Amino acid sequence: MVALVEMAGTEITLQHLPAGPWASSAAVRNVMRANRKRDTAPELAVRRRLHALGLRYRVNCRPLPDKRWTADVVFTRARVAVFIDGCFWHGCPAHFSQPRTNTSYWGPKIARNQTRDAQVDAALADAGWAVVRAWEHEPASDVAERVATVVSARRQEALGAR
Ligand SMILES: [Zn+2]
Repeated sequence: MVALVEMAGTEITLQHLPAGPWASSAAVRNVMRANRKRDTAPELAVRRRLHALGLRYRVNCRPLPDKRWTADVVFTRARVAVFIDGCFWHGCPAHFSQPRTNTSYWGPKIARNQTRDAQVDAALADAGWAVVRAWEHEPASDVAERVATVVSARRQEALGAR
């Protein structure tokens, strides 16, 4: 649990992890993997499908060089940024449930993440980027199709603008 302890800066133990579906050891591993923030299983699944659709992209890079944050998948020329959000960390309406313990920590933390997500989306929109946000629980093929549709539309727009 070293990663979680470092992340929180407080004493987080297994008991502090959310109850319910998050309590299994597989879920704990997923939470920890999500905390690593890159190359999660859902991200890899989406990337594999995008690649199979013939799309080429960059991963885990900054869409806006003057901002510190990265997007999970980036189409530089089409200016499309893709985020695969973890259901717990980003407060998925279908899967997030308030942990029973340490609520004073988790509540504000998730709220901050959501605020930051909105700021990131706004900054990208201001810079003329399209944003695709997906939940990690969504089937990778659905996400990949959505991304492909947006990228294709952006390319058509670019052609039309010439
Ligand atoms: Zn979810």
